[in-house]
This record gives sequence, C-alpha cells and structure tokens, in this order.
Amino acid sequence: MTDLGRLYDEIRVSIGRLIEPGESVIEHDDGSTATYLVPSLLNQLRQAVYNGRDPHGRRSSGVAAPLNLDAVDLLQTVRSGAWDMATRWDYRGIIRIEDQLAHVQVEACRCAEPDTVSWVASTTAGWVKSIGGFLDPPRPLELVAPCPACGVRTVYRPDSSGEAVRVAALSLSPDGCICLACKYRWPQTHFRHLATVLGIKFEWDLSHSEEGG
Ligand SMILES: [Zn+2]
Repeated sequence: MTDLGRLYDEIRVSIGRLIEPGESVIEHDDGSTATYLVPSLLNQLRQAVYNGRDPHGRRSSGVAAPLNLDAVDLLQTVRSGAWDMATRWDYRGIIRIEDQLAHVQVEACRCAEPDTVSWVASTTAGWVKSIGGFLDPPRPLELVAPCPACGVRTVYRPDSSGEAVRVAALSLSPDGCICLACKYRWPQTHFRHLATVLGIKFEWDLSHSEEGG
C-alpha cells in the first residue's frame, strides 16, 4: 500500500470515530469487562460540555448545568479546524461539524497532494487522541429512565481519578441493555419492547455494529 493509501485509511478511521457511534470496553467494579455502545466522540464531548446533562443543559432541579470549559475549548478547536479543512475543498454545506468532517473524509481520501493528506490525517488523529484522553473512561450510551426490573435510575461509578460519578443505571451494549444496579439484561432483540415499557424513542441506529471495515 502506498503512503497515501495508509493516510487515507487513517483519515477514515479518525473521522469515523469523531462522527459515528462506536463501541468501548469498560471495566466493572468486580473486574469483569463488557463492551458498550458509545456515542461518537463529538457527541460525547458535547455531553461533557454540559457535565453529562442533556444538550439543553437541564438537570432535574431545572437549574442550568455549569459548562465544562475544557470541553468547550476542545470542541472549539475541532469546530474551527473542521471548518478550515472543509472550506479547503469548497465546502458549501450547512454549518455542522459532522457534515464538514464527512465532506473532508471524502475529499481528503481522493486528494493526491501528500502534504494536504498528511495534514488532515495528523490533525484528525490528534483530535481523536485529545478527546479520547479527555473522556477517559468513555461514557456508555445510557438510558435516563428507571430500570423496569429494579426501579433504580442512577448508580455511582468511579471515574479515571477514582472519584464517584453518577451515571444512568441502564447502559446499552451490542449484546443488549444491562442495568448496572441489578445486572438485569435485555437482549438487543428486546430493545423495542424495552423502549415501549420505558416510553422512550431510541435515537441511535444500533445496526452500525454489523458493518464490516
Ligand atoms: Zn435494575
């Protein structure tokens, strides 16, 4: 494979991780590990901006959540960088980082200028590294609803620094949904039923994990 071919692959992987949901292996308190579905790095970063609250900054008390300024800085770096890259290939789309990066992914991977391709590859890989380091450990895709089996809504789990953080009890994984409180598991085939019980709509396309490289 040529150097350019290798760089194209790196760009596809980096931008894929930035804009598409993925999987992450997370260690449980008892030392066991499980694979969870996680939102795209950019969506995890957006959640971190509001300290894990929903994008409207609501919390149960109705008071706006404080902003995480490190997350804001990181998001701003990606925002301006993505715009810089996208406009290099005559971007005329809407102002959404995901759309800009999808455009860059297509254009950079057919660009024949080694300097440009290598710039995109190293910059996007750098963003993945910075966001990944910031989000360590990654947040699983959670359902903010009480577990239908035990009624628990949130549990406390240690973060990378050992500090206990409150997370939703219901976490989604490629194997299904698991309650971190009572360990009850619903297979993926039961998601629709579970969603009906919880009265929610799934926003994530869980079929992505079927895709080949
Ligand atoms: Zn439960």
